[in-house]
Amino acid sequence: MTVPCVRVQPEAGEQTRQALADQGLLDDAYDITVADGWLYVPVADPDEVPEDYEVVTFDAPRRETQTLPRDILGFEPHVERLGDIAILDEDDHDRAVRIAEAVMASDLPVTTVVNRASKVQGDHRVREWDVLAGEDTETVHTEYGVDLLVDIRDVYFSPRLATERHRVVEQVAADEHVFDMFAGVGPFVVPMAKRGATCVGCDLNPAAIRYLRENARRNGVADRVTALEGDVREVAVGGGPDGTDYTGWADRVVMNLPHSADAFLDTAVRLAGAECVIHLYDIQSEEDPFGPGEHALQAAADDAYAVDIETRRIVRSYAPHEVNICLDARLTQT
Ligand code: SAM
Repeated sequence: MTVPCVRVQPEAGEQTRQALADQGLLDDAYDITVADGWLYVPVADPDEVPEDYEVVTFDAPRRETQTLPRDILGFEPHVERLGDIAILDEDDHDRAVRIAEAVMASDLPVTTVVNRASKVQGDHRVREWDVLAGEDTETVHTEYGVDLLVDIRDVYFSPRLATERHRVVEQVAADEHVFDMFAGVGPFVVPMAKRGATCVGCDLNPAAIRYLRENARRNGVADRVTALEGDVREVAVGGGPDGTDYTGWADRVVMNLPHSADAFLDTAVRLAGAECVIHLYDIQSEEDPFGPGEHALQAAADDAYAVDIETRRIVRSYAPHEVNICLDARLTQT
């Protein structure tokens, strides 16, 4: 059915849509549409449209679905969702702003839009963000039924690893002791505790420890989660500041600090009980993605444990010719 539409170049689409929306002129019953290089914005009252806009009649489809950013922009932007935060990865600031405006104007349940402003950096593996819309960088993200409160300004968290975490979580039995050496806000620890495991999560970042405790509480597993703050090499084995010593305690150890996990394998082996599975994340060249991790595990286990690599898995590509991998290694005391 033909309806009155303001016709503009797609680049001016969001600005136009916003201006018409501010004046209450949009006709939400029809989709904003791109055709023949133009963007058609349906309007409810063409007589009220300011003269500097061109009004035409156009066969706009009746709106049946929610308006997505691509409907407004005329192209599909890459938008990652973390709770009610939309995360962009755009080099061009102006393009990022355009996308942010379209996300906010769409029907997506988003309150904040951020763009990556740095790589993950420092010991805490936190990145900088450009906040393009909204202001709150704390959100609740739900992953496989687990609610995780996270502030992306203060702690590391990546929703991209959800499938991989779930693969590991599903291996956990109810009576296990699990030690996560780099626990963050608890995306391994909390679901593992929900399966009945007794878990310890360690992190150097005090904010991560605060969120880990809160996430254990809000998922009803605080009684099975211990949060340890500090360098795991100092606080987990050999008697930490408060006398903690998890030497020989763990049935399972999670090591998700991919660039530097090697430096922590001695501690992982000290945590291992008579039999223990270590999930070792690593970033390596695609030429030999698993070899360095396997050798490092063998060296750390020395003669004390036999090492059986049960899974060699490429989790995702990380950079050109580099991959993020996981080794599931079973250590059995000799
Ligand atoms: N496992 C979490 C996840 O999947 O979201 C967090 C992983 S993040 C890549 C690594 C975490 O290790 C960060 O939260 C960082 O603060 C912590 N970390 C870095 N060095 C550490 C150390 N020496 N001891 C304990 N935690 C450390």
